[in-house]
Formats: sequence, C-alpha cells, structure tokens
Amino acid sequence: MKKRTGNELRELFLEYFKNMDHMVEPSAPLVPIDDDSLLWINSGVATLKKYFDGRVIPENPKIVNAQKAIRTNDIENVGFTARHHTFFEMLGNFSIGDYFKKEAVEYAWDFLTNKQYIGFDPDLLYVTIHPEDEDAYRIWSEDIGLEPSRIIRIEGNFWDIGEGPCGPNSEIFYDRGPSYELDSPAGELYPGGENERYLEIWNLVFSEFNHNKDGSYTPLPKKNIDTGMGLERLASVIQEAPTNFDTDLFTPILASLEEISGSRYGRDEAVDTAFKVISDHIRTVSFAVADGALPSNEGRGYVLRRLIRRAVRFSKDLNIKRAFMYELADTVADVMGGFYTNVRERRDFIKEVIKKEEERFLVTLDEGIRIYEGLRDEARKNDSVIKGEDAFRLYDTYGFPYELTQEYAGQDGLSVDEEGFIEEMKQQRERARNARKSGESMQVQSETLAGITEPSEFTGYQSKKEEAVLTHIIKDDNALDSLAETGEVELLFDRTPFYAVSGGQVADKGTIESGDSRLEVTSVYKAPNGQNVHVAKLLSGTINTGETYTLAVSRDERNFIIKNHTATHLLHQALKDTLGDHVNQAGSLVESERLRFDFSHLEGLSDAEIKTIEEIVNEKIYENLEVHISEMPIEEAKEKGAMALFGEKYGNVVRVVDIDEYSVELCGGIHVRNTAEIGLFKIVSESGIGAGVRRIEAVTSRYAADVYKEKEERLNEIAAKLKVKESQVVKKVDSVQADIRELKEENKSLKARRQDEKLSNIDELAETVAGVRVIAAEVPAGSAKELRETMDNIKSKAQDAVIALASQNEGKVSLVVTVPKELTNTVRAGDIMKEMAEAVGGKGGGRPDMAQGGGTDPSNITIALQLAKNHIKSSF
Ligand code: ATP
Ligand code: MG
Repeated sequence: MKKRTGNELRELFLEYFKNMDHMVEPSAPLVPIDDDSLLWINSGVATLKKYFDGRVIPENPKIVNAQKAIRTNDIENVGFTARHHTFFEMLGNFSIGDYFKKEAVEYAWDFLTNKQYIGFDPDLLYVTIHPEDEDAYRIWSEDIGLEPSRIIRIEGNFWDIGEGPCGPNSEIFYDRGPSYELDSPAGELYPGGENERYLEIWNLVFSEFNHNKDGSYTPLPKKNIDTGMGLERLASVIQEAPTNFDTDLFTPILASLEEISGSRYGRDEAVDTAFKVISDHIRTVSFAVADGALPSNEGRGYVLRRLIRRAVRFSKDLNIKRAFMYELADTVADVMGGFYTNVRERRDFIKEVIKKEEERFLVTLDEGIRIYEGLRDEARKNDSVIKGEDAFRLYDTYGFPYELTQEYAGQDGLSVDEEGFIEEMKQQRERARNARKSGESMQVQSETLAGITEPSEFTGYQSKKEEAVLTHIIKDDNALDSLAETGEVELLFDRTPFYAVSGGQVADKGTIESGDSRLEVTSVYKAPNGQNVHVAKLLSGTINTGETYTLAVSRDERNFIIKNHTATHLLHQALKDTLGDHVNQAGSLVESERLRFDFSHLEGLSDAEIKTIEEIVNEKIYENLEVHISEMPIEEAKEKGAMALFGEKYGNVVRVVDIDEYSVELCGGIHVRNTAEIGLFKIVSESGIGAGVRRIEAVTSRYAADVYKEKEERLNEIAAKLKVKESQVVKKVDSVQADIRELKEENKSLKARRQDEKLSNIDELAETVAGVRVIAAEVPAGSAKELRETMDNIKSKAQDAVIALASQNEGKVSLVVTVPKELTNTVRAGDIMKEMAEAVGGKGGGRPDMAQGGGTDPSNITIALQLAKNHIKSSF
C-alpha cells in the first residue's frame, strides 16, 4: 500500500475509471441547479439525477466523478468521530443502464486491492449486503472469492429515497485494527455498526427498481450503478492517519489554526475537538460561498450561518476572542484550489463574507446575553430552572450556544432543563430529516420519450419558418400515429425552428399548420435525447405522423427575445466591469418584453452604479458591435476567456457568443447579429431577492423607449400644471418651493401677532362663570417656561381672575392654572389641574393658588379647558 496525498488519490480514482472507458463528469456546484428538492448536493449521484431517472441520456453511460458534498445531518458528529464531515468529497463511478452488479463489484475490488492502485490487504476488507440480495452474495463470495464470514447481511442496506430508482446496496469496510475499538458502544463492534474499527469507505448502490408513485416497486427498465467513496476516509487509511483530520487534506488547516490561536493540536481532547470542528466548518463554508451560497436567515444561508457560529463557539476552547475563521480560508484555497479552482479564484470574496458574518455573530452574542438575562430573571422568580425550550430558542433563533447558556446559568446558580433542550433538538433534526427525505426523490423513468432516438434538427438559429415531417405524436405518455381530438399534445418533427426553453431564454411560440389542421405551440422543451418537444394545442383537423407541416415561430416575439438575450450578455459584463469580478450569474430570464438577471453581490446598487451600468450597455449598443457565434472545442473557448455559466455542463464542443471581444460567453441561445439591433437599454428595477443575490430587470428597444415616453408624458403633465415650458420646470419648482417657504414664515408671524392682540385684550378673553372672572384659553408657547411667562403677563392684567392656560408643542401639552388667593378657600388650582391633566393624558399638581401639569394628547385641550370651567362653576 503506497502512501498518497488526498489530491493524488482523487486523480488516481478518476484515472482508473477513465481507463475503464468512463467519462469524467466535472464536480458540480454544491448549490443544486434546477433542482429545488435538495438544499445541497450531498452525494455524487445527486448531480446525476437527470441521467438516473431518464430525463437526459448521457453521451457515455459510464461516468466517473469526484463530487463535493455537504451533509448537515452529520453535523453533531463532526469533531467527535474520526470520519464525519459536513463537507467532504465523494468519489464515484456510475453506470446508466450499462454495466451492473458484477462489474461494479469487480471494479471496486480491483481498485482497492490491486497493487497498482490502492493495494489494500484483502484480508482487511469486509462487505455488507442486503439480506435478500443473493446476486450480490454470489458475486462477492464466488467471483471475488471473499470468505462468507466477511460478507455481512444488513437489513438497512437498501437505498430508497422515495419516488424514483432505488435498490439494494453493498458497503465496503476497512478493518483498522483493535486499537480503534476504544469507546465503541456495546454490541456495535462489527462492519456496519457504530464504531471506528470497521470503517465504511465505499458504498455501491445497485439501483434496479422503480419506486412508483403508488408506493409499488417494479423492475427498472434500465438498471443503474451508483457508488460513493469518501476521499477523506480513504486518505486516512492510506496515510495511516488515526482520523480524517490527520490527513494532508486537513493538517495545513490545523497548522494555520495553531498559529492563529497559539493552542496546540494533539494534546487535549476538548481542544482537538475544537480544532476538528473549525477545520471542518471552514472547508464547508469556503466551498459553499465559492459556489454561490451566502449566510442568511433561511435555508442554505442559515446552514452557513450556523456553521460559522458553531465554529466561533468552539473557538472559545482555543481562547480566540476575535473574528479569525476567515483567515483560514486562505489555507483551504491553498490545499484544495488546484482541483476546485473557484475556492482559489474567489478567496477574497469568501474571506470578506466570512469575516462580516463572524463580526456580526460577535454582536449577536451580546444580544444573546441580554436575552439570557431576561430568562435568568424569570427563572429566579420561578423554580430556578431555565426552560429547555427557551435554551433551544436562544440557540436556534439567536445562535446563542447551548454551552454558554449552561455556563451562565451555572454562574448564576441556576440550572437548565437539558432534557427539554435535547427533546427540542431531536424534533428539529426530525424536521430536517423529513424535509430531506421528501425532497430527494427523482422522477419515475418515462420510457416513451427516452426511447425516441432519431435526431431532430434545430434550424432556429437561421430561420423562423420550416417545412418539417411530423415524426412522433405523444398524448398522455403514449405514442400515436394520428390524432383528431382537440386539446394538448406533444409533437416531434425531423426538424424545427422552435427554440426549446434553456439558458434562461423562453421557448418560442407560434403555429403548426397543414391544410385544415392547425395547432398553437404553447411551450417547447428538450427530450432526454435532446430533440425539441413541442407542447401544442390541436385547434382543428387531424394530424398524422409522416406528413409534412409548416412550423412558424411568432416573429414579433422572437425578434424581441433575441434583443434581450444579447443585452443580457452585455449587462453581465457591464456588472462585472462596474461592481467587480465576484458578480456571477445566479439566474436569468429572457422574454420578449423584458429581461431579468440575478447575480451575486452583497449590497444594493447605488443610483450612480445603475447609471454607469446602463451607460456601458448603451455605449456597446451605439458602437454597432458585431456578434460572432462559433463552435469550438471547450479548451479553445476557455483560452479565449469565455465566461462559462456556473455549474452548467458543457460538451466537448461548445457554442461561443462573442460580442466583439467585449463579452465572450458560452451560450446556446439566439442572438442579434449586431448590438445596434438592440436599439436602447434601460434598467427598470434593482432589488435584493435573498442574501447576497440581487436582481435587475431591464427592457430594450421599443419597451425601453416606452419607459422614456411615459416619463416624458409625466413631465409634460407637470409642466402643464405649472403652466411653464418643459425646460422651465425645474426653475419653476424651485421658485414655487421658495414661495411656499416665504408664505409659511409670513403665516407664522401673522398668527403670532393675532395671538398677541388677543391676549392684550383681556376683556375679550375673559368670561364670567358663577360670578367669577375666568380666563381659560389655549395660547402659543414653546415650552412650559414660556407658558408660565404668558400666565404672569395675563395675571398682571387680571388679578381677580381664575386663569387656566394650555399650550402644545410637538405633541406635548403644557398646562398652568392660577387662582387668586382670596378664592382658594372655595376653589383650588391643584384640583382644577388634576382634571385638566387627566383629560390630556397626563399629570399635574401644585399649590392651591398655582398648579402646573402636562400631557400627551393635544386633541383634548378644548375638553380640558371646558373641564376647568365646569369645575369652577360647580365649586361656587
Ligand atoms: P456513515 O454510515 O459512515 O455515516 P453513510 O452510510 O451515511 O456513512 P453513504 O451515504 O453510503 O454514507 O456515502 C458513501 C460514502 O461517502 C461513505 O462510504 C463514506 O466514505 C462517505 N461519507 C458519507 N458521509 C460522510 C461524512 N459525513 N463525512 C465524510 N465522509 C462521508
Ligand atoms: Mg453507507
């Protein structure tokens, strides 16, 4: 057994199966493409579903890949077992209806035991099979010659994720020897049990049944092989490393962490766990961010947030008190960037994202402490126990680590209901597992379309109209020779100008006609073997296979679709020019009336940025740039710097859309010949649609002109209302605003003067209530002090009067009341004030001859003044 590095093992595996005529499929991004059933790519097969369920037939039925995978269901194991990660690499070989069990077993055995490759001692290998899988038993025992005692039957060895292909599996274990038995739970010490001695390295799945919608199982028309071997585990055995973390895939990360923390790995168990957790999580987060995910409060983003928080929490065991994790992303890029180039290319962006999130969490921790203190006070009033569900909420919603809750509670002489917490955690896991199970299923294989192998030529790049022979009529998954019944049907022709939806570009619409027969095409999609399938409504007549029809694409729509498609390419490049190279397409929709482009970027765009982007695109339109479209080998395209769509799978020969070297993209869509055809480009909205993903909607040509026309009409309307020429509008608005300011000032001083006049004429203000002179009025005053001054002023002119004044200022009410000394035996200022203050929602009080108060409800001032008068009336 030769020692090899992780990178060498990956290469060796790919090389081995390449020699066995397998096609190498690149590692797909961790964020699933066109598949909302999965949160993350979690295995090699997850990216190949379209082949497994027959939607697409691969060029070569034998496939090999090294696939990045994220599994969050293993998260609580990470750091505590030798073999679990949240991010790992799965090496897999696959057969789509080609070889089956025997060959799959033979390949695996050869690769593992052949001295030229891994060269394991065969006596250290064990396998498990499904109890009823006699084929597997025979192959292992007879063809391979494995002793029966080393073939273990395990009921759970059946791979079934709901609807779609499924079947028994067989796992291969490596015996690491008795020194690995430590801590294994009783009764678990066998291959397939919960232990570290018998290490599962490879899983071979023999998918031979269709799990149908009704729950029944039927043999699969085309049987598949799906295998997965964990690279890190293989490396740990080959490198004689006690755990995956002691392999060369991890040691550089551990070394960087030693440097950052000043702690040493390999001396203390708790410290080592922290090292493992952090080095695992940094890989996951770095790769996920490189593949377009970003921390947020839901779904995928939430997983990243929790991973970062979990790592930060464990960093406490290393006495780290600052944002640090982002620095490790450099080491991850160094270790892995050779094969997974995007972690290297995007390292700055990755670091920025992680750093921000770490810093945010440090703030969150403070917030968590505040919430904890609330719980503490409550617990102190009750039974001195912090409820399990509260601790869970702290952990789950606020990201406040459970250990911290425990630690604080301990210090405060309280305890935490651990059972309750664990129960909540269990339920959470259950929810996650169910969500995963129900979401993972594939589609049931449909044989009708998969069986059609005659090609259908797509002529739509050059033409919009075509005479074509109808080759297949499919109704409700049945092939027919002719159809007379009106309604929806799927049709295939020997050739077609209709574009099938792909690359964001919508399908063409149009008509199919011959004699009396007339159909309307509503959508077009690609069959498993690549032909365009027309979904159409038969409006009249009969259709027959073998007859010729006129296929006509709706011209007007197509013309606008292609303007928008080329504009989308210009926009993509303009975004990179303006915002930076981290901008990557996250989704695109090209329709006739508008285009929509989603891309990764952290912040909202400023008006200036939007303007710059718009200007760049329009400049490229005005420059009359020619659009060159050509096919070339993918290597050549890469050399030309063609932007490949993230995660898209390309064949060996690719179609390159080159807009005069300004934008060079791999694309199968239809474009204008010259950018001038786009006419005009206008962004109509920019918004955020999720963490770190922005969306731009834009229009071109006539639709862009319409936007300006509408703006012009609005401007004309304003000019008409202002009664000026359009060119004078701004000046006029300025002068109108100046007028308004002036009038406001004038109004204010007029009001003040009127008040003064009113106050100076005491006789006008005063009234007689129950024989007493009373002045009850609202007066202007900027503060309680000003109000008292007004009061003194009035009092000096009317010493015999009971005076109650109110004023309001910014929603607050001030009140003041005086009663002449000689009347205080009958009526007291404090009593009047009490009623007034209550009416305006406040408080007040004072001496019998003088009281002050206030409130917050100015709308009740009139009532308060009336209450004062009523009080006086009833006192005499
Ligand atoms: P285990 O029982 O050890 O958790 P599994 O049965 O869940 O593994 P499979 O789904 O069979 O694993 O995946 C195939 C292979 O991928 C495994 O044999 C193993 O080598 C690797 N693997 C699976 N899960 C992980 C993980 N969390 N971390 C590292 N490698 C893994
Ligand atoms: Mg397994």
